[in-house]
Amino acid sequence: MHFYPAASADLNNPAIKITGGPNYETEVARILHFMQVDSGSRAGALIVDGILNNGDAREGLTIHNPHHALNNAITNPRGAVRNSDQPNSTATDLLRNPGRGAGATVEYFPSEWHQIGGGRAGAARDEILLHELVHVWMIQRGLSSVRNLHRARLARRVRQFDIVDDFFAIMITNVYASECHRPIRREHHGFTPLNRNAMSIAMDPRFQPFFAALTRAAPGLVASLSAIDTEFNPWHPRMELVDAISVFDDP
Ligand SMILES: [Zn+2]
Repeated sequence: MHFYPAASADLNNPAIKITGGPNYETEVARILHFMQVDSGSRAGALIVDGILNNGDAREGLTIHNPHHALNNAITNPRGAVRNSDQPNSTATDLLRNPGRGAGATVEYFPSEWHQIGGGRAGAARDEILLHELVHVWMIQRGLSSVRNLHRARLARRVRQFDIVDDFFAIMITNVYASECHRPIRREHHGFTPLNRNAMSIAMDPRFQPFFAALTRAAPGLVASLSAIDTEFNPWHPRMELVDAISVFDDP
């Protein structure tokens, strides 16, 4: 077992636990350190710091070696009592009444993903891990909504995020990718690039419920995100023209 940061070997201290053999543990710690420090990304540091500083040992994170490719990475809540990892999501308030929070386990196999800085939009090994860490951040705070977005009345571009929590995981990882000067990801189906600017996403009426819910439920996170000036950041959009998709609001 390895702790990240390595100095915090006290089980009661906030730290990320990594289990699965020395090579695996060293590699995951390297990726975490890149995300939190070496990348220079404020979004990466914000999420890793938020997990480490949560300060409740019951809500700790373990990153575990599945020992084979998953074609995915999987985050599960741990120790949730009566769905304390989740809010009571409603159609008009997606993050209503957050739970008390829970711990989490992430199943993640770095070597099946492209090296840091490479691959398709969102598919580098650090981006894959950061995506899962956003789920963890939300689980710790009882905000991880598994509300299903496959509903006929929702626009196709909303349905393709699958669940509410994945909208936030993808958009926050996109801010990180932008800070690292990499392509950004469109939705949760595959790793296609998003060819819209931040203003267009921020102003899209179909995405308004997501941004409004996060502002209500996690104002501190939104304030920190809003302070990051980078090419793609829907919480701090640069003054650019809104493209046609949100003007015409196609399905
Ligand atoms: Zn996800």
